[in-house]
Parts: sequence; C-alpha cells; structure tokens
Amino acid sequence: MNAPFPRQGNNNRLAGLASTLLALTFFALTFLALTFASAQGLCLHFWRAAPPSSWHIEHLREMTRIVLKFGGTSMGDLDRIDRAARLTLAERRPGTSLAVVVSAMAGETNRLVALARGAAGEGLIGAAFDDEYDVIAAAGEQVSAGLLALALRRHGARARSWLGWQAPVRTDSAHSKARITDIDGSALIQAIEGGEIAVIAGFQGVDPEGRVSTLGRGGSDTSAVAIAAAIGAARCDIYTDVDGVYTTDPRIVPKARRIARISYEEMLEMASLGAKVLQTRSVEMAMNWGVPVRVLSSFVEPGHDQPGTLVCSEDQIVEKHVVSAVAYSRDEARVTILGLKDEPGRAARVFGLLAEANINVDMIVQSQSRQPGTANLLFTVAENDADKAVAALQPRQAELEFDAIDVRRDVAKVSVIGVGMRSHAGVAYAMFKALAAKGINIEAISTSEIKTSVLVDSQYTELAVRALHNAYGLENG
Ligand code: ADP
Ligand code: ASP
Ligand code: MG
Repeated sequence: MNAPFPRQGNNNRLAGLASTLLALTFFALTFLALTFASAQGLCLHFWRAAPPSSWHIEHLREMTRIVLKFGGTSMGDLDRIDRAARLTLAERRPGTSLAVVVSAMAGETNRLVALARGAAGEGLIGAAFDDEYDVIAAAGEQVSAGLLALALRRHGARARSWLGWQAPVRTDSAHSKARITDIDGSALIQAIEGGEIAVIAGFQGVDPEGRVSTLGRGGSDTSAVAIAAAIGAARCDIYTDVDGVYTTDPRIVPKARRIARISYEEMLEMASLGAKVLQTRSVEMAMNWGVPVRVLSSFVEPGHDQPGTLVCSEDQIVEKHVVSAVAYSRDEARVTILGLKDEPGRAARVFGLLAEANINVDMIVQSQSRQPGTANLLFTVAENDADKAVAALQPRQAELEFDAIDVRRDVAKVSVIGVGMRSHAGVAYAMFKALAAKGINIEAISTSEIKTSVLVDSQYTELAVRALHNAYGLENG
C-alpha cells in the first residue's frame, strides 16, 4: 500500500545522504586522478610557461620514453624511410618506449602548397584560404606516418600511425601558423608502454572547432618537442640531413664546425635569426619545459655512434664562447618612410598602425632627410608582411605627413650570436670591421644581450656570413 510520509521522508533523507556521499567520492576520485595524471605528465597545457615541479619524475618510472623525429629529407624516399625505421629500432631496448614524429617527404609540402594556391587563385587569401590550406598541407605528414609505420611492421615491430587529431595535439585556430595549446599524452603513453611504436604525423593538430590545423613551416620539430614534453620523455632526438647544429649553415660555409652543446637561449636566437635546423617554437618549448634535444644525422647506419649536438641549459655547458654562431635570413624586407614630418609622436603613430595590423618590426633607424624638419624612418619586417605594412601606412599619407614609402626586398639580415657577449666588449666592432674589409655596407643594426644583427644587400649574404665566421675564428673552435 501507500508508504507513510515519514518513511518516505526518511527515504529522501537517506537518498540525499547517499548522493552527497557519492558526489564526495566522485570529487575525491577525480582529484586523485587529476593529481596522478599531472604527476605522470599526461596532459600538458602549453600556455603554462614553466613545467610543474612534479614533471621531472623519470626516477619514479620504470620506462624511459624517447621521442625521435625524422625530417623531410630523412623521409625523402622508401629507402630513407626504411633507414629511419632501422634507426628507430636501434633505440629499442628493455625499459625504453618510443614515439616517432615524422615530416612529409622532402618537397611534398611545397607541392601541396602550390596545389592549394593553384586551386584558390589570386583572390582567396587570409581566412578564406588558410583553413583549407591546412587540410591540404597536413596531408604530407599523414602519408609519411603511414609509410614509416608500415616499414616498422616490415621489420617485425608493432607500430601504428597517429594523426594530430588522434593524439590529440590541440592547437588554437590560427590556421597555417597555429600554436599548440595542450596535448593529452595519456593514450600515447598507454600505447607505447604497451610495446607499440607510435608514429605521429608532425606539423598538424586539431583546433577547438575540430578542424585540422598546421604549425607553420618546419613545424614538425615543434610537434616532436611538444609530444616529448607531454609524455615526459627523457629526450627528443631530431634526425635531419646534418649531423648537428653548426657554427653556421654548412651549406654556405663548408668549414663550419659542429657544436657539441648549445644553450637553449643561443639556439633560440639562431633559429629566430634564420638557422632553420630547428623551428623557433620548438626551441622555445624545449627551453620552457626543460626537454633535452639532440640534433643527429639520419644519413648514418644504425649502430653508428654519433655525437650530434645537445641543446641544453647554459649551466650544462663548460666551454663558453663570446660568439658561438653566425645566422642569416633572406626573408626580410626593408621599408623606408621618406620625408616624414620630424616631430614628437610621428614614430608612435607609424608603429601603432603597424602593431594594429599585427606586423612585427625588427630593426629601426631614423635619420635626418635633406629637407629640413623631416626625417627618413627605416624599419625591417618579414618579407611576407611588406605589402601589409604598405597597406597599413599608405592610406594615412596625408595624416602622417610623409613624401613616399620605399620597399626593398633584396636585403638580408646577418647575425652573430653568443652568450659570452653579455660580458665581452668589442663584438660589434669586430663585426663592423670584418664587413668593412669586404666592402659590405651596413643598412641597419639591431642588438640584444646575446646577438648583433646587421642588414645588408642580399647579394652579399654569403660573403658576409663567411667573413664573420672567419673573423670570430669559428672554424677553429
Ligand atoms: P628537416 O627536413 O630535417 O627538418 P631542415 O631543412 O628543416 O631539415 O633543416 C636542416 C638544414 O638546416 C640543413 O640542411 C642546413 O642547411 C640548415 N642549417 C641552417 N643553419 C644551420 C646550422 N647552423 N647548423 C646546421 N644546419 C643549419
Ligand atoms: N612538412 C612541413 C614543412 O615542410 C613541416 C616540417 O617539415 O617540419 O614545412
Ligand atoms: Mg625542418
């Protein structure tokens, strides 16, 4: 029959108590699970600048996790992919689990980008182009991940491919130059600790809308370091077509010397000043998360013991040079505003407009022009921002009061880098003297604590790099 109210009331109270207990248990379990997950480095949020203190817990684990990355040339054809597979297998030993990040086969991304541009025509730029560009450009890494997984299987290993969205590598929505926001490493860890070799497509991720994103050219380096951080890897080995980081691009100076150890700070400057051996963001991430990175050649047979270059913190380097390396970049444009009215506030207005248009300015030089009361304002921007800079300034000619804007793309930035510059005088003097001896004119200069850069006519790029490499005795160590 009908149950009496009090009983029902009692039931309700009991049910209330039970659900409170359940909720408390749920929260406690969730808290424990999250604490455990973060201690294991399972889910990293890359907007956090530094690792949590619990990150270096290698000693607590039985398995050492290692990330290997193979670049485009290293994946250039089936023979090279086979060698990449054998190099990977050579790292397999008891107590070690492996994740491999791959780039598209050499030339493939360029081919895909050209196809995308061809399909879009001239008119489609920016947001109307970039999301589909990502879908197309990311395809190269999908193919090479599948190929390497098959090559590994052929050698009897258990391997499978992982695309960016499957890992998942989460990014923001800045298509074509997305930033990694976080990686949940738990599925990857489970797979590799279960004995599988995870082959991850580099360069790609998934944005908050679930769409494919790419990390900017050379972005597989960043994928590799980010995955190493997310799975708490002991190190990240970047296999490429050179056997380490050199004192300058060995293609330009054959006498360049391999650097045994380089600090994160110097490598960061080198990468951002044009040394494309590592993508700038990968170095930034390695530095923030304390991931030791080694740069090695993939053009050796497995078992060949190669020293490579270790990118590590400054305190792990005994031998410190005043100048460690010379870098160059041809991806520069020089913009000069001629006859700009010379009065307080003009420069602020010009650079305000450039900042609003999201354009990064590097070097700046202001000089008097021939006309009294006016100045010439010279600055450099990335070459592909030059048109945007003109578009931001030209319509304001009357308001800013200038005569004309001049743009030159045949310029190059040549830089010398070294942590020793902090405590040594005369580095810039030696640089200017060496360039003057070769008759190379300096158009602009910029400095920071550990680098000095000059802008020169691009036809003198190689000459300037060689002259500076020689002037600082870099080939002698
Ligand atoms: P991957 O396809 O493996 O990612 P990249 O072409 O992106 O390789 O980078 C390797 C290239 O970087 C080398 O072939 C070399 O020409 C160039 N490079 C530029 N500066 C340096 C440097 N200082 N040390 C080593 N390589 C450099
Ligand atoms: N395949 C991409 C590129 O060519 C990413 C990479 O190689 O790192 O830029
Ligand atoms: Mg690269």
